[in-house]
Formats: sequence, C-alpha cells, structure tokens
Amino acid sequence: MKINWEMGIKWLLPVLFLFVLTACSSAKDSSNGKGNQLNVVVTNSILADITKNIAGSKVKLHSIVPVGKDPHEYEPLPEDVKKTSMADVIFYNGINLETGGNAWFTKLMKNAKKKENQDFFAVSEGVKVIYLEGKGEEGKEDPHAWLNLENGIQYAKNIEKELSKKDPDHAAYYQKNLQSYVDKLSKLDQEVKEKFKAIPKAKKMIVTSEGCFKYFSKAYQIPSAYIWEINTEEEGTPNQIKTLVQKLRNSEVPALFVESSVSDKPMKTVAKDTGIPIHAKIFTDSVAKQGENGDSYYEMMKWNLEKISEGLSK
Ligand SMILES: [Zn+2]
Repeated sequence: MKINWEMGIKWLLPVLFLFVLTACSSAKDSSNGKGNQLNVVVTNSILADITKNIAGSKVKLHSIVPVGKDPHEYEPLPEDVKKTSMADVIFYNGINLETGGNAWFTKLMKNAKKKENQDFFAVSEGVKVIYLEGKGEEGKEDPHAWLNLENGIQYAKNIEKELSKKDPDHAAYYQKNLQSYVDKLSKLDQEVKEKFKAIPKAKKMIVTSEGCFKYFSKAYQIPSAYIWEINTEEEGTPNQIKTLVQKLRNSEVPALFVESSVSDKPMKTVAKDTGIPIHAKIFTDSVAKQGENGDSYYEMMKWNLEKISEGLSK
C-alpha cells in the first residue's frame, strides 16, 4: 500500500504541476489577447493616483500600501501577493523607498517571479537622484523625489510609456490624459515657485519629522530640517529631538509641520521645547483619505504648498 501510494504521488505531482502551469498561462493569454483590462499593481497611494490620472478606467488597479501608512516598511497581505502574481505591470517608486529597510518589495517580486523592466518598473526612472546625508546612510538614495512636482511629471511620463507599451490599443487615450495631467501639474509648479518668493529668507525652513523634503528644498529653494532622516531608521530618539531643537533655537522659523503617515508625538515634543507651533499636517508618503483635503497627488501637493507658504509667512 505504502509503496503504491508513494509511486502514485511521484507520478501525479508532475502531472498536476503541468496542469496548473497550462491553466495559468492560458488564463493569461485570454486576458491579454481579447482586449481585456490590464492588471496594474502599484506600491502606494501616490502612484495609484498618478496612474489613475493616465489610465482612467481602462485598467484594473490595485494599490498595496494603504492610505496613511508608511511605504518604506510594509508587510504585503495575501491579497497583495495574489494580485501581484496576476499583474501585467507593476509600478514602484524605487530609489530606496520600497527596497530600503526590510526590502518588502524585493521579496514580493522574487516570490511572484516578476522581472525588472519587463514586469515591474521604477517610476522614478530618469529623475536626478539626491542622496542621504546621515551617518551610515552614505551612498543610499533619498526616495522622496515626488515632492518636487517636476519629478511627479516624470513619474507620470514613465507610467504612460509602460501602459502604452503593454496596452497599445489604448495608447492614444493614455497619451491624451498624460498631456492634460502634465499641464495641470506644471501650472501648479509655476504658481508655487511664484508664491514662495514672498516668504522672508530668515523664515524659510521646512521642518518635518522625516527628512523627506530634499527634492522639495532643491526645487523650491526652501531649506529643510528634520528629526530623523528616513523612516527606515529610529524615529524620534531623544538625541535626534535635541539636535533639531538646538538648530531651531538659533533660527527665526515660525512653524513646524508633521506628516500624515508618521506619529506626531516626536514633533509635539519639538514644539513644546522650542515654543514653535505645529502649523499643519502635511502629506508626504501618502495621499489623504478619500474625500478629505489632499486626497490625490495634485491635491496633496497643493495642500502642502499652501500650508507651507501660510505657516512660514507668519
Ligand atoms: Zn518617507
């Protein structure tokens, strides 16, 4: 009995495996060949929104990291794994966001047997990278490129390019959407640059919990300061808080800011120790909840820019 059973399994397993393989590949063929919707997976809410602006309702979109959660460190759910395996195209930020810290994205791609620049694409491709400055972080990229609207435009262009390649039937539609989206973002970018000119130089400093404003600082000529440099390191140690407090005591900075996707506790301590108020919650690593101010990439940037300009003009 035992011998027969083992032999049966030895014979059955390869057959079963072949059957599953055939079933999977034929399912994929029919979904691509008959003009069905492209399955698109993105890593976070910002990329989801940019993708929606280009793809409209032409694709099936799944976004992995929930709104308001930290995209640096994440543990994909079974649903994420399933949708990623089925995806025709996957967009991630790259430059040390989802691949830093516990490298959740790298593991996910490996498990789903997906290949770079074939199945998954870094939307930051072509962006001029800025590097981290802290001890032990040398040589690592700062991921927050999207906080400069010009880079957001680059993201949108990269997304359109890959969607059009994977789904040429709708390429004209994607290109048209890209053009109007780029126009909208460029207009906001110009308005902001104009608005920031009015802020007195001594007050020009954007203070946040995570040091995520390097790209922003460079684009909009407002230096930045932070408690910790990146969410993958310790967040808000007494020493980190002390260093920032000392820096602020010698400044005329009128307002502090706290990001929606981190705890506000460390920044509250900074506010208490310096007497500088937290002016507003801003959105850096996630859009706002649907229906609230800042619930798209465009709206979150607009909100941030307005709040920053208002806070620093006090
Ligand atoms: Zn971040």
